[in-house]
Amino acid sequence: MSAPTANSRPLNIAIVGAGLGGLSAAIALRRQGHLVKVKFEVAIWDRQYIFKESFQVFEASLVNKEIGAAIGVPPNSMRVLEAFGYDQKNLRSCDYRGIVAYSADGGEGRTMLFKDQAKHYGRQGCLCHRTALHEELKRLALGEEGTGTPVQIFLGKEIANCDPEAGTLTSQAGETYEADVIIGADGIRSTMRTVVLGSSVVAPATNICAFRWTVDASKLEGRPELDWVLKDGVTGARLVGEADSGHIFLYPCQDATLINVTMMHPDTRDQDKHSWYSRVTREDVLREYKDFGPPFKAFIELAEDPINLWQLRAIPLLPTWIKARLALVGDAAHATFPTLGQGAAMAVEDSAALGCMLPYGTKPEEVPSRLAAYQDVRKARGEFVCIDSLEQITIPSKRGLFMRSEHMQDMLNGYDGIAVAQEHFHKTFIKF
Ligand SMILES: Cc1cc2nc3c(=O)[nH]c(=O)nc-3n(C[C@H](O)[C@H](O)[C@H](O)COP(=O)(O)OP(=O)(O)OC[C@H]3O[C@@H](n4cnc5c(N)ncnc54)[C@H](O)[C@@H]3O)c2cc1C
Repeated sequence: MSAPTANSRPLNIAIVGAGLGGLSAAIALRRQGHLVKVKFEVAIWDRQYIFKESFQVFEASLVNKEIGAAIGVPPNSMRVLEAFGYDQKNLRSCDYRGIVAYSADGGEGRTMLFKDQAKHYGRQGCLCHRTALHEELKRLALGEEGTGTPVQIFLGKEIANCDPEAGTLTSQAGETYEADVIIGADGIRSTMRTVVLGSSVVAPATNICAFRWTVDASKLEGRPELDWVLKDGVTGARLVGEADSGHIFLYPCQDATLINVTMMHPDTRDQDKHSWYSRVTREDVLREYKDFGPPFKAFIELAEDPINLWQLRAIPLLPTWIKARLALVGDAAHATFPTLGQGAAMAVEDSAALGCMLPYGTKPEEVPSRLAAYQDVRKARGEFVCIDSLEQITIPSKRGLFMRSEHMQDMLNGYDGIAVAQEHFHKTFIKF
């Protein structure tokens, strides 16, 4: 490895996808100084920007808004977000201190407390709206403030192909772009994954799906039978029912003004003959959860149509995440179930590792070996989360293991993704 010289130049980096993973990668790489000479017009999000510089994020959608509802931000993710300069108050989050579990027929709630996260991991994990996290990442990627040069985002640019050796990308409309580094952050249905592997890997059907909806917390007021949702017990989540027959998992976000609900249950349809995402009604939800006790059905009654129905799928282990100048991050590499609440956290950690492997001064010809080091430091951890999230639903003896196992909580929440990646970088590339 050579130190930066007066002749060093920023790398030209293209990111495919501007979800939580793509934006995190953009921030990590911007902060390395690859964009110091970029200048651009002030962002109005839905407008096409006029830029002439080289740090690019290509996003298929025309309006880059995060969809879906809320998300847990565990301490390991927060640790990286802090290094990115995030401001937690912008997340309007609620603390995630534990779970109160109820059997579907009601009865006394059983409290499962996480380890004291502030004491053990230096920060308290939280729950927030996905949009709030996405907006905060956008602020850090696009803003004039902060280290490095603001990121340029092209909306409505679906990337159809790329040549990882040549470092070129082609959009659906036939436009071509060049880059020293290409990051595939294009989610569970990744096109870049097909390029890396040379063939398409589709996340297989699992026969598990989830209703997802949100409800305004003000609807709980004056309803003592619904005190179990927010008022009774630890600040955090509520779990009702069992994984194999169906359960309700809910938690607050937006300063506890909104409640996020995920209801996971077996999917009796042939999943491959249905869209991965569809809409249903409150009546459909009540029919599926007809055996749940009155306080839980009273809560479901608050749902407003339409309700989202998602198939839950996970990517099988891949032989590689990299090819020449192209690397996968986030769901493109390891999309999984929400069981451990670590999917986006893995995308954030992946991004931090990429930043560590590509400091300012990296030469274009060094990129493939740096991406190989990125894979070395990230693949085992990403795959562990991917497989275990799935198995903690599908293998009965593993259910609730995360809550029961302090070792697992430490391994996930206590991880310092930046320190581990930096150490790997030094061991691999710094020669004395
Ligand atoms: C029900 C549920 C609950 C979850 N809860 C949690 C949680 O509590 N904590 C947690 O850490 N994680 C959670 N996750 C996981 C988390 O949501 C994902 O891991 C994370 O959003 C992945 O981000 P990503 O950027 O990799 O992919 P995505 O968010 O899918 O983003 C991919 C982006 O790429 C764009 N794109 C796709 N193809 C192209 C193309 N060809 N060209 C250009 N752009 C393209 C898409 O428009 C999209 O914007 C949950 C997931 C689910 C389903």
